[in-house]
Amino acid sequence: MTQEALSNLLREHRRFPPPAELAAHANVGESAYAEAAEDRLGFWATRAERLTWAKPWTQVLDWSNPPFAKWFVGGELNVAYNCVDRHVEAGLGDRVAFYWEGEPGDTRTITYADLKDEVCKAANALAELGVGKGDRVAIYLPMIPEAAVAMLACARVGATHSVVFGGFSADALRARIEDAQAKLVITADGGYRRGVPSALKPTVDKALTDTVEHVLVVRRTGQDVEWGGRDVWWHDLVDRQSAEHVARPLDAEHPLFILYTSGTTGKPKGILHTTGGYLTQASFTHWEVFDLKADTDVYWCTADIGWVTGHSYLVYGPLSNAATSVMYEGTPDTPHRGRWWELVEKYRVSVLYTAPTAIRTFMKWGDAIPAEFDMTSLRVLGSVGEPINPEAYVWYRERIGGGRAPVVDTWWQTETGAMMISPLPGVTEGKPGAAMRPLPGVSADVVDEEANPVADGSGGFLVLTEPWPSMARTIWGDPDRFVKTYWSRWDGLYFAGDGAKKDEDGDLWMLGRVDDVMLVSGHNISTTEVESALVGHPRVAEAAVVGATDPVTGQAIAAFVIARGEGDVDVEELRAHVAATLGPIAKPKRILVVPELPKTRSGKIVRRILQDIAEGREIGDATTLADTTVMDSIKKALGL
Ligand code: ATP
Ligand code: MG
Repeated sequence: MTQEALSNLLREHRRFPPPAELAAHANVGESAYAEAAEDRLGFWATRAERLTWAKPWTQVLDWSNPPFAKWFVGGELNVAYNCVDRHVEAGLGDRVAFYWEGEPGDTRTITYADLKDEVCKAANALAELGVGKGDRVAIYLPMIPEAAVAMLACARVGATHSVVFGGFSADALRARIEDAQAKLVITADGGYRRGVPSALKPTVDKALTDTVEHVLVVRRTGQDVEWGGRDVWWHDLVDRQSAEHVARPLDAEHPLFILYTSGTTGKPKGILHTTGGYLTQASFTHWEVFDLKADTDVYWCTADIGWVTGHSYLVYGPLSNAATSVMYEGTPDTPHRGRWWELVEKYRVSVLYTAPTAIRTFMKWGDAIPAEFDMTSLRVLGSVGEPINPEAYVWYRERIGGGRAPVVDTWWQTETGAMMISPLPGVTEGKPGAAMRPLPGVSADVVDEEANPVADGSGGFLVLTEPWPSMARTIWGDPDRFVKTYWSRWDGLYFAGDGAKKDEDGDLWMLGRVDDVMLVSGHNISTTEVESALVGHPRVAEAAVVGATDPVTGQAIAAFVIARGEGDVDVEELRAHVAATLGPIAKPKRILVVPELPKTRSGKIVRRILQDIAEGREIGDATTLADTTVMDSIKKALGL
């Protein structure tokens, strides 16, 4: 990393101490770090005791065959029981589990008692379809309550679910059904997106393989569907089931779900998570990082259920904590660009968890829109999915959080199962753009090529140095790839694939994937930093930076920017701005103003495609994009 580039992020001197009131009543205080440092396994054992176990474990961690971990060995529990039944038994049956809002404006309020009935009926339905312990179930649904019910029903009977994002193509779905050998697919006729019903069932029909015995179909839009011999309506089968079902305890290491990573880096990997360790960490981090007060907070995680964030922080984390959540079906601009803020006002949302890509989109739409709504209920704001640049962080804090609500920037991955590096809102002084420190019980470091920890003030590779409860157990069907991808670069260290920096205080700043580091005239420059510098200019809403092959400098920086506000953008001024912030070496050779950027469904920029443009190539595979028409509008804007 160049000295100039390095000093830039570290030049970010804004600091936000935790709100005094929040700190005074925080769920987790400073002492947790010391407690975990003293006895990491004891710390996690105590956190596991927040759950209800049918049989206690005999060993906290079995790490005798690394990297294949076993946590809470010999223990037994049922995830659905922990997320639903035990709350009803504790007298919380009337508490709302989900305020669900459909995109067209239809709503459902589901209490914990309702949820228990639905999950039990669905579990009985699975049994009737011959689905039980050890079977795999693919779930391909819109953001409707049945998605959570289906996941919990699988967990209840010991079937392993594989949720596939409802926007994926038939090919992508088939590959995932095939890889997991799913016996059942749960889908819907369609879902609402941008005001129109969009069909799902025809995609499933094209994706079925021989192992699939049944397709269970929820009626959501009422659109016509073709019906085949394997198809069963959810309302025909599930609704007539008994609401009584006894949840059998399962082994702590029983496979809970497979989730395929989004595949921005090649063939999707079926990441396997199991039962006891996963739920321990998803549950505890949700309570700790959001300072959840389950009896008063209204929590909203905007992630789709098809991503790991939707698994850990829309379903398993919040439900295990008896939280009240909002779940929203549609897009933020339907029917108007204030829809999210309208929902915050309507449900008095107090904790909001979203992604930087959404925040930057709202910045682009302007400050006036959120200002129309009463969002004084918000008290903690979370961010996940990519590095949050300081300008977006500050905007989120000021315009959404009213300058009161702390922002927690949470770093984690599908593979880690739960949050790993994040501020604690009642403890940590926030630095815009920094994920700060490993959470209590988590061990992370930044190392150089030889696995030596870098000094404060330097950058390198992010590694996790000790096993953690919610760690991936393997890649489904491919343990060798699991070892090779994550555990073989350095002995005994988990390589996350991300770059990071330590500042002078030893706090961590995430830099995105290491593949996104450019080599310009012999200097390593991270795309994240150049993007962050660009977004720091008042005329830039979003930026994506790639290194394009250059005969002189090795790689030359090409930037794609989306303008903020009206009128032409002065590209020369932007280049000068980057040079002034990061140093002349980081000055983009070319800046192209575009209307949109190619992103995956989880909101990550697909730089590979931008690199094709920057290097003047035919555009490669665009099938994982959230919206494939984006490329046409970019090409048109650039006159290609
Ligand atoms: P694939 O591995 O298939 O390409 P993916 O990495 O996009 O998919 P996820 O597991 O959803 O799939 O994303 C995890 C990655 O997202 C992290 O490795 C990191 O690069 C990025 N990320 C997530 N949260 C943060 C954060 N708070 N700060 C910086 N980067 C983050
Ligand atoms: Mg990844």
